[in-house]
Amino acid sequence: MILSSRSKLDELKSNGRLPSPKGAAMQVLLLSQKEEVTNQEIAHAIQADPALSAMLIKLANSPLAHQVRPIASVLDAVAVLGMNTVRQIVLGLSLVDSSRNLTCKKFDYQKFWSHSLLTAITAQNLVLLRGVGLASPEEIFILGLLSKIGALALATAYPLEYSAILEKVEADSSVNLVDLERAEFGFDHNQLTREMLADWRMPGAFQSAIMHYEDPCQANFAEGSRDWNFLHLLHIADYLTRMCLAQDSERGKMVPKLIFKATRLGVESEMLSRLGDGAVNDWHDWSKLFKIRVVSVPPFESLLEVAPLAPEVSDAGVLPGNVDSAFKLRILLVDDDRAVLMIMKMLLDSSGHTVAIARNGIEALAMVSDFMPQIIMTDWVMPGMDGIAFCRELRRNPDWRNIYVFMLTAQESTDRLVEAFEAGANDYMTKPINPKVLGARLSAGQRVVQLQEELEHERQLLHKFSSELAVSNQRFQKLALTDELTELPNRRFANEHLERQWALAQRNGSHLSCLMVDIDYFKQVNDSYGHKVGDDVLKQVAHALHLSVRKQDVVCRLGGEEFLVICPDLRASEFIRYAERLRVNVAALNFTDTSGKNFKLTVSIGAAGKNPAVASSEMLMQLADKRLYKAKESGRNRTVAD
Ligand code: GH3
Ligand code: MG
Ligand code: MG
Repeated sequence: MILSSRSKLDELKSNGRLPSPKGAAMQVLLLSQKEEVTNQEIAHAIQADPALSAMLIKLANSPLAHQVRPIASVLDAVAVLGMNTVRQIVLGLSLVDSSRNLTCKKFDYQKFWSHSLLTAITAQNLVLLRGVGLASPEEIFILGLLSKIGALALATAYPLEYSAILEKVEADSSVNLVDLERAEFGFDHNQLTREMLADWRMPGAFQSAIMHYEDPCQANFAEGSRDWNFLHLLHIADYLTRMCLAQDSERGKMVPKLIFKATRLGVESEMLSRLGDGAVNDWHDWSKLFKIRVVSVPPFESLLEVAPLAPEVSDAGVLPGNVDSAFKLRILLVDDDRAVLMIMKMLLDSSGHTVAIARNGIEALAMVSDFMPQIIMTDWVMPGMDGIAFCRELRRNPDWRNIYVFMLTAQESTDRLVEAFEAGANDYMTKPINPKVLGARLSAGQRVVQLQEELEHERQLLHKFSSELAVSNQRFQKLALTDELTELPNRRFANEHLERQWALAQRNGSHLSCLMVDIDYFKQVNDSYGHKVGDDVLKQVAHALHLSVRKQDVVCRLGGEEFLVICPDLRASEFIRYAERLRVNVAALNFTDTSGKNFKLTVSIGAAGKNPAVASSEMLMQLADKRLYKAKESGRNRTVAD
């Protein structure tokens, strides 16, 4: 390709139809590429062209030069304007002038130079703002001015053919200019531009940038590298120019893309406004000198302000990195810059995350409890509440301690990062945001969030299990100590409780008594009315005993129709009266048999109290049992207490 383009270029040059700086301009261009050139030499070259000389003197006296003293000589003009400005003007004037009478019908020469000039100025101002280190502002101005010179060359050399091509592009927007050029000439205008730059001995870096600046994805430079920055700088200058020259309706759609592109280069909203307004201003000034047409453009601030926050930008791309697609995050973005919010939201949306935005720390804090973000990305410098204060405030709430916080910071403040980590940030990212870095950092954060959530889930499960276990243990315990039929404490409880009460009485020197209660002739109830009536009788007697005892006493069912009443603090002198009350209460009960007839029952009671002759709780129970036996022996329905 280069060969055929080369031979084509040679052919173009040989027939003298290629635009090129002529006479004095070429001299100045060649001189300025020398290491040590003097103002005298430059002035001398310019003086060979009277029209150019007049123009320069006029310019040196214009407001553009900010000069108060009147300038009368070319040498003074060169001194006042500076070598680089002179070089730019001479080259530009010469090229514009040489193309003024060209005749490619569909090629709009005015618009072409208008475009080139604004691209040149924007690129120059961008270098002044950002400084990519690959070129000086003066060099990038010339590169911008010549960035589409290949197209002018085609229009100059092949006016008819190129006009036909431009007509096709105008009629059908889906047709690609570059494709048509290649089909017609074997090369496109970008390739020709590069050939011409090479011919004028422009630096190699310029030549490769010029090939791809219209479509920078083709270049495959690593994002953030010097080559990438240089290429994108030219691309943004060109895009900003196209936006300025577009119809109002088109312009609105281009603004979000411009914001997107500029933010990726680290040019945020405010800087972009300054850049755009400044460039348009200079463009209007320079246009008078070059005698080319310009259009008026609204202030950038008003253009940027109406741009939607979530526009469709086809080349936004998706986030790289091992983002687990099944695990979507809720992300809160906090930044005062619309452009940063826009680009971040776009990148994160495209990966399927749910994104909310806040313009400062105060707004963000108010959103946290409702939105419950898993990740927060916050700018450092913001009005109202900055990133550090926001982080500190966030960490004061223990519910929010698991939120993973990224601090976004300018390159310059990385040495203050300790402050961010001390305030509670988990990680940081430097602006401009590189999508690759964002993707990788986000996956790391995502893993932490995921792990934390799994841990939290397990912790909750454990908590649930252990409380369930506690409840069922309690139930089993109760079951193990309760009689199922009467719901009174059972024999096991009776033994343990009596033992506890014994120890207590022992320690306090207090009284303790127990009564062994047994229903008389109960077997006959079963035999006469059946087991079911027997059960009802047991329940009724249990209930009556339970109601008859004091609050501190416990009635237990030892088994069968035998009950034990444990009475702390009941002295022996009192328990006969007490036992009698129980006996009378049971005797007063009315039971009902299967045929509905009432019948009565009695109980026998053996009573025993703690005294020095009784050595243990077991012996106390045995004593009561022995007395119960005695009560049975002596006729039943009575209490025996000695
Ligand atoms: P005594 O006056 O000598 O105490 O005579 P008794 O018939 O009351 O005593 P005995 O020990 O001879 O009979 C107790 C009966 O209680 C025997 C058993 O069938 C019955 N029994 C034991 N547990 C239950 C029970 O849970 N439900 C029913 N319905 N009967 C039971
Ligand atoms: Mg009995
Ligand atoms: Mg019995």
